[in-house]
Amino acid sequence: MSRVRWRTRTRSDFDAGELNMRIAIIGAGPAGLAAAYDLTRPEAAAGTTGSTAVSHHVTVFEAAPTVGGLAAGFKAPHWDWTLEKFYHHWFASDAAILGLIKELGWGDQVLFSRPVTAMFHDDKFYAFDSAMAVLRFPGVPFIDRVRCGVMALYLRLTPRWQSLEKVTADAWLRKWLGPRGYDTLWKPMLIGKFGEENLSLVNMAWFWARIHARTPRLGTFQGGFQAFMDKLADVVRVQGTEFQLNSPVTGVTPLPNGQLQVETASGFTPFDAVISTSSPALMARMVPALPSAYADQLRALKSLGAVVLVLALDRPLTRRIYWYNLPKEAGFPFLALVEHTNYMSPDHYGGDHIVYCGDYLEPTHRYFQLSQDELLDEFLPSLTRFNPEFERSWVRQAWLWKTAYAQPVPPVDHSRSIPAIRTPVKGLYFASMSQVYPWDRGTNFAVEIGRKAAKIVQEDLGR
Ligand SMILES: Cc1cc2nc3c(=O)[nH]c(=O)nc-3n(C[C@H](O)[C@H](O)[C@H](O)COP(=O)(O)OP(=O)(O)OC[C@H]3O[C@@H](n4cnc5c(N)ncnc54)[C@H](O)[C@@H]3O)c2cc1C
Repeated sequence: MSRVRWRTRTRSDFDAGELNMRIAIIGAGPAGLAAAYDLTRPEAAAGTTGSTAVSHHVTVFEAAPTVGGLAAGFKAPHWDWTLEKFYHHWFASDAAILGLIKELGWGDQVLFSRPVTAMFHDDKFYAFDSAMAVLRFPGVPFIDRVRCGVMALYLRLTPRWQSLEKVTADAWLRKWLGPRGYDTLWKPMLIGKFGEENLSLVNMAWFWARIHARTPRLGTFQGGFQAFMDKLADVVRVQGTEFQLNSPVTGVTPLPNGQLQVETASGFTPFDAVISTSSPALMARMVPALPSAYADQLRALKSLGAVVLVLALDRPLTRRIYWYNLPKEAGFPFLALVEHTNYMSPDHYGGDHIVYCGDYLEPTHRYFQLSQDELLDEFLPSLTRFNPEFERSWVRQAWLWKTAYAQPVPPVDHSRSIPAIRTPVKGLYFASMSQVYPWDRGTNFAVEIGRKAAKIVQEDLGR
């Protein structure tokens, strides 16, 4: 293994304007790319010291062969657009990421529309994404629909999530919707998303965040999320960032001179600062020098994985509806069916009709062990419930994507247990999906926390 050594830099180097701070970013998902963008922007570097222009040498280490993280896409040879491995869209309220896109001058490449989201009842699907749709939903008596509407309005208007994190979503929703409305409308969704075993954990602030911040208008980037991630990576590269793809970081160790040594399969490299955007569990393993209080905080963060089967069909499965919420108690083998081409035109995918079958699961769930063919056998029979004429021969191609870290599970009083971005190890910073609370994870909040981490690094290096 090669070992690279750098001279320890001093404050006088910094004052003389000679200093090029070396910063490592672990992960080229939206958080890592946003941090790299800010750290290498010429105006940001000038702002570090006020008068002296300090350029940061940023290296992004990415385990995968491409940038994009969980928002990355893939492309069949006959498609014009990439498709997200895991279904993705933006909400009109996603100010951080839409603001970044505007800043980059790409606002005209963001496409918004208002696809339909549906809820299952009595073997049929009903729209469930507006006040009128809720009032028309036949699954519960009218009085429960009104209660549901009032509750949604309250959560939309109140900015106070702090009191809501003191109670579980299960208890709060049962109290305010009544058992009949809750058991029919939201309990199946909470169980589907988090599993029966986590129902007694998830706090109400998580539910508040979804109603408070989300919009029925959904957006994507022309060419798919991967097109956006690639364009952002290109800008960051032009600003001087070095990318090391296919380079999992296996360790980060503090050096006696105050720097941090980053270890990959190709060697050890010292840096003045390191921002990690990995999962909390991986972060705890990568940095044995983390004090036990911080490492324990990381290990205590709970999350679920995701299994998503993507199908390219030779015809539409359904008409009009984009997103189907599926209660497991009704016998569906997955949580959500997303007919992507009821949102974006099949023309972008060479005429293929794209359907996602997705679920959030404990990483120990048996689905993680199944092959694509085994999951096709599990999932495909249920598609006749969406279209009785469906046949396996409609499937032109399929892809299976799995990730062990997909969805943080926020328990009661979660705000007290979130690890700080600035870790106790000098020069080491951590910015992950598990820290964007009270918001639910999303590329918008990844950009926000990535930029926040970059700002903290700038402040600390400029001290
Ligand atoms: C099923 C699913 C659906 C989703 N739907 C949406 C949606 O509709 N809209 C939305 O905005 N968001 C959605 N998200 C969430 C969104 O993808 C994430 O919030 C976002 O990607 C998080 O960005 P990040 O940069 O923090 O982490 P990630 O995207 O996870 O990126 C982290 C990167 O770090 C790399 N890495 C980790 N450890 C190492 C290491 N040791 N060495 C080198 N590299 C490493 C990983 O390979 C990865 O590329 C969804 C996620 C899932 C799983």
